[in-house]
Amino acid sequence: MGGDLCSRAMALVVGAGLVLVLALVSVHAELQRFEQPVKPDGSLSFLVVGDWGRRGDFNQSQVALQMGRIGEELDIDFVVSTGDNFYDNGLTGELDPAFEESFTNIYTAKSLQKQWYSVLGNHDYRGDVEAQLSPVLRRIDTRWLCLRSFIVNAELVEIFFLDTTPFVLSYFTDSEGHTYDWRGIKTRRTYIANLLKDVESALKASTAQWKIVVGHHAIRSISHHGDTKELIKHLLPILRANTVNFYMNGHDHCLEHIRDSESPIQFLTSGAGSKAWRGDIKQTNRGNVSFFYDGQGFMSVRLTRSNAEIVFYDVFGEALYTWNVSKQLHSAI
Ligand SMILES: [Zn+2]
Repeated sequence: MGGDLCSRAMALVVGAGLVLVLALVSVHAELQRFEQPVKPDGSLSFLVVGDWGRRGDFNQSQVALQMGRIGEELDIDFVVSTGDNFYDNGLTGELDPAFEESFTNIYTAKSLQKQWYSVLGNHDYRGDVEAQLSPVLRRIDTRWLCLRSFIVNAELVEIFFLDTTPFVLSYFTDSEGHTYDWRGIKTRRTYIANLLKDVESALKASTAQWKIVVGHHAIRSISHHGDTKELIKHLLPILRANTVNFYMNGHDHCLEHIRDSESPIQFLTSGAGSKAWRGDIKQTNRGNVSFFYDGQGFMSVRLTRSNAEIVFYDVFGEALYTWNVSKQLHSAI
């Protein structure tokens, strides 16, 4: 009898433990989601800029000025930052004045006083990486929202923001004298496996008209850094299998549009928010490149249920390249 009671008690304990484990698993499997309303006509517009925080230098202020002008024209709903938010080495802490000097005091236009959704870049990992994720920054400037990986749901589109820096093996094995703040990344392998699992299940569950994935590192690029082989190997197959429309990134300081050879995915680089790399172009691997510009600038995206329009602008706010796609036809116009 006593033994029976004891085993029942054990079963309860094991059961409670199991519930706890399941609860932890289910919490882990959910990327944090944010709801973004669309315009009354059902459309959505936003700007995409990357690799920018230099206290206004290297034409950051000029790009910001033109973002403000185009942002007003398009009546944008939010801004996406593709990472490398603060140069050279991220933020030193939550109260680093660089946050206001490179963000708040630079993007001052009325049209840019919207939500900014930001991912981290490799330079952000060279400082206090957790500072950029802190709610303290959101209190200093309510536009700021940066998390490692998260989802923005805007009815006609779901945008999956991914932290791609831990994918890149060389940052762990050959850091070239830089110190990376890997707090929060227990092991690279587990981190990548868990993130891929979360992204895959969220993409599968998505019923949005458009699916966009944003990360700092390019999957495909013909500029300085080029393709990111770890993303081609681990992430691209998941994006292809789940009909992702656009992959947007920074890291290479240029503007570019490259088509995927095996799926309708379009690779869009917008990493020209300040310092650009004029003339730094790979002579190989140029297949499927629709547009490349090695100066400063940014990108705009306008979505309706049936159409997407992508425009790249230079530092003078001149539209350099416009690309439209229709959802029904799923081919470039
Ligand atoms: Zn970078």
